[in-house]
Amino acid sequence: MLSVLSIDSLHVTYGGAVQAVRGVSMEVPDGKVVAVLGSNGAGKSTLLRTISGTLKLHRGKVDAGSVRLGDIDLVGRDPGQIVGRGVVQVPEGRRIFGRLTVEENLRAGGMGNKDKTAKAKAQDRVYEMFPVLKERSTQRGGLLSGGEQQMLAIGRALMASPKLLLLDEPSLGLAPRIIGQIGEVIAEINRQGVSVLLVEQNATMALGVADLAYVLDVGEVSLSGDARELAQTDEVQRLYLGHDGDTDQPKLQRAASGKKLSRWSA
Ligand code: ATP
Repeated sequence: MLSVLSIDSLHVTYGGAVQAVRGVSMEVPDGKVVAVLGSNGAGKSTLLRTISGTLKLHRGKVDAGSVRLGDIDLVGRDPGQIVGRGVVQVPEGRRIFGRLTVEENLRAGGMGNKDKTAKAKAQDRVYEMFPVLKERSTQRGGLLSGGEQQMLAIGRALMASPKLLLLDEPSLGLAPRIIGQIGEVIAEINRQGVSVLLVEQNATMALGVADLAYVLDVGEVSLSGDARELAQTDEVQRLYLGHDGDTDQPKLQRAASGKKLSRWSA
């Protein structure tokens, strides 16, 4: 199957010392949703930074390997060029512009898009997908709830008409019900023809929506394959799909310590 993105034997370090990604190879087939799971420090954000061209801003460097989008290698390209090629990231923690209105936030996402008709169409599509954003179009982004801000962050990325959407932990800090909605939104975006690379700690949501998945462990791929099959494996069941007593909150554990990560305990 044709891949929209092919990562081959990627090695990334920070400050010449920390080896964050060690020989990772990964494919995002055209039109599919690919999930990347892994505990804190596994290298997930580093992978996204490498793809989006923002690694330099974090003093990171690609030591070897390639990240190919069709015929071109994205390594060494500027973030703006990469967005221009249709690879758009929704950053972790949403990072919308709190003082700008919802509509202004969306317009900011479409700034690189010179085609006015395409921009208007993209905005219509975003409002159709997220009616709440239309209702709140004149409100400041900072006044939206966490879930609505995540919708806005995704909507803003869609304004650039991506062919590959990169999502960095979209469920972080959100209530289980909202996480379910985010999963549905990702599936709908994908149905509309956008390929998705989804970095997530919430394995339940990620494996529910993804076609394929990769598990990163200390900078290396430890497991990969069909998302539904992967969800059945002992390792994924044990490490990523444990459930918390009376809640449905997925629990991610570190292999070594077995401790529950604090970010999921709130
Ligand atoms: P998290 O979910 O905590 O963000 P992650 O899977 O995204 O984890 P990365 O943030 O990519 O993991 O981190 C991979 C490794 O690189 C870790 O050892 C981390 O400490 C290190 N690292 C990440 N960013 C930097 C940086 N800017 N400078 C130095 N080391 C870094």
